[in-house]
Amino acid sequence: MRGLVTKSTGSWYLVQGEQGQRVECRIQGKFRTKGIKTTNPIAVGDWVNYELEPDQESAIITALEPRKNYIIRRSVNLSKQTQIIGANLDQAILVVTLASPPTSLGFIDRFLVTAEAYDIPAILLFNKLDLFSEEGLDILAEYMAIYEQIGYPCYAVSAHTGENLEIIRSLLKDKVTLVSGHSGVGKSTLINALEPAVKLRTGEISDWSDKGKHTTTFAEMIDLSFGGKLIDTPGIRELGIVDIEKGELSHFFPEMRARLNACRFHNCRHINEPGCVIIEAVEEGDIESSRYDSYLSIYNKQDTRN
Ligand code: GDP
Repeated sequence: MRGLVTKSTGSWYLVQGEQGQRVECRIQGKFRTKGIKTTNPIAVGDWVNYELEPDQESAIITALEPRKNYIIRRSVNLSKQTQIIGANLDQAILVVTLASPPTSLGFIDRFLVTAEAYDIPAILLFNKLDLFSEEGLDILAEYMAIYEQIGYPCYAVSAHTGENLEIIRSLLKDKVTLVSGHSGVGKSTLINALEPAVKLRTGEISDWSDKGKHTTTFAEMIDLSFGGKLIDTPGIRELGIVDIEKGELSHFFPEMRARLNACRFHNCRHINEPGCVIIEAVEEGDIESSRYDSYLSIYNKQDTRN
């Protein structure tokens, strides 16, 4: 039988069969993802074949269909292992907010680099629109412009008042969408508002000060009644980038990618080289300095492959 994995814990998997029935599965044999060591060889969004056990209540996954794409995070423990957060994604949404607690631009940029590296279209949702004064709205527009100019669709919404949620529903319709966001931005409230049949637990602001704590929650797929599927990523603070060489990093910044061939040196790192068109563009204000700062910060921390 063929089914879609809707939850993956690494030791058991929930699979939705083609008739909609859900069954708890285990894995038989080895499933590997080329190039990475994973704690969960099969992920939410994977299509698999499975065989029911004699009790008809549980099943064994026997085959994994090839993936269109996938996205990972580094495992929280010390090992170099990674967890696959979702597979076969059509798009990824990052919920952010400029108010209580503000999402840093560095965090947004790391998310966008990850999405670029895995070739997954990314969208930014600026939540808590209801909290903004007129002055705040101007600042919000400036932030949104930074990302719109380089090609990322941005939407301002309020999970509380429902403002602009209709647009978001039309974005989600009939797609598989990964939804991510720093704790406290209102991701759960937003998902509950988009799909009232779902009742995700929402936290009060005080919860997010515990963000350093390790929570063993797992990504889960949610069926949308208007068509489409969400992959919610509770407790997942940050996606991870593996397999990017430092020299490739600028390719994952669209505004840098568009200018790369014009540097004097073909292997320019865009740090202090003469004749670097990226540095020039930053100085002239054509590349946003916060984006360039994020480039430098990721460049200096990127230790997976040198
Ligand atoms: P999550 O950690 O991202 O899932 O965040 P929650 O959905 O638990 O929300 C965190 C806090 O932000 C809660 O107190 C929510 O009531 C609040 N919140 C969520 N969305 C909005 C919104 O659009 N406007 C306002 N004012 N507060 C919101």
